[in-house]
Amino acid sequence: MCLAPSLTSGGRQPTHPGASLGTRAKSLVARYVALDADTVLSPGCIHWDASGRIVGLRRARKSERALDLAVLPGLVNAHAHLQLEPLDQPVRAFLPWVAAVIASRGERSAADHRRIALHSLRELLRSGTTAIGEIDSTGHTVAALRRLPMAGRCFRELTGFHLQQREARALVRERFPSDAGSMLPGLSPHAPYSVSPDLMRAAAARTRNLAIHCAELPEEQQFLRTGRGVFADLLRKLGRLPEGFRAPGCGAVRWLEQLGVLRASTQLVHCQELERGDVARIAAAGASIAVCPGTIDYFERTPPPVSKWRQLGIPVALGTDSHASNRGLSMRRELALAAAFWPELAPKELLRMATESGGRALNGPFGGLRRGRRADFLTVAAQASWSDTLSAFVHNLLPVSGVVLAGMTHRIHADR
Ligand SMILES: [Zn+2]
Repeated sequence: MCLAPSLTSGGRQPTHPGASLGTRAKSLVARYVALDADTVLSPGCIHWDASGRIVGLRRARKSERALDLAVLPGLVNAHAHLQLEPLDQPVRAFLPWVAAVIASRGERSAADHRRIALHSLRELLRSGTTAIGEIDSTGHTVAALRRLPMAGRCFRELTGFHLQQREARALVRERFPSDAGSMLPGLSPHAPYSVSPDLMRAAAARTRNLAIHCAELPEEQQFLRTGRGVFADLLRKLGRLPEGFRAPGCGAVRWLEQLGVLRASTQLVHCQELERGDVARIAAAGASIAVCPGTIDYFERTPPPVSKWRQLGIPVALGTDSHASNRGLSMRRELALAAAFWPELAPKELLRMATESGGRALNGPFGGLRRGRRADFLTVAAQASWSDTLSAFVHNLLPVSGVVLAGMTHRIHADR
């Protein structure tokens, strides 16, 4: 039975402007309760226990008064770098951008990384995000998660194009998180142009949960095919191009397949420059793709053919990437950009990308409301119909009014 159809604020202090932490509400009866993109209870009731787990999902009874709210699964941001800050000046060319990001990161202390990660978590929570695929380059994200227990997967980042078997295994041993806080653990061998074959294999031997930047740039494909170009020059300059290096002679996806890391639980990020046969390879492997509309917009790239990927059954998730290549961290903005980039996708399909496909891309129980899962959801004002509500939601025309994270209520006053 639903106990109280309200989201009640408690006596604790707000954790950041625009949201306050409340008591553990027990239940909510709302005009619409969307379990996922396909299933909506109208009116519906969601009920969770003191540990923050969902214990009931059902249609509301006639005797229960439903609030004029829609409950949606918390959004899943499949790809983020929480510790990166906006650059002082926008840089649109990729390699100078990488140099600017590395320089900016190098100036930061451990306390800075924790502070910035926490700020990013709060910003994402305000947009209704409750699970993240975080690329943790320093190991400091876990400390931020103790303050704000977001769900998702924390991928420790690996780089080292020069690393041979022994050093590669040692780095993986050192980096694989023994404690990922409120998230699940994973590894992110950064990209085929920044990670040696031995390091890719060592990561794949340690965990099935990998996130890899893949086929992001034409220059990446050129380097893998020919061993030449700006990435070869950069690696040589850094002293990371091994003596006698020979290029794989194929594109990024085929190279990952040959290395044995293109698997069902691998998340490929960006995939801007796929080659003939790559989409079929990814689909056959059962791997997922994360696209980042804000980054596409920032670098003024051509949106990739997401509809074609989805038709072949590839789970395509949305990510914000970082502050360094986006105007802010908001999954609402990513959804609105996705709607503009791929107008052929129905609102339901866009919601799927921002929820259950994100869960697939992170190999975790995220992006849908189910008994036994964490009570992670958001609320918006109900419109005349569910269809109107969903359409307004994905186009960022309807502010998030509340977020419940692990059963705890966060009131949201300013979403956009
Ligand atoms: Zn990234």
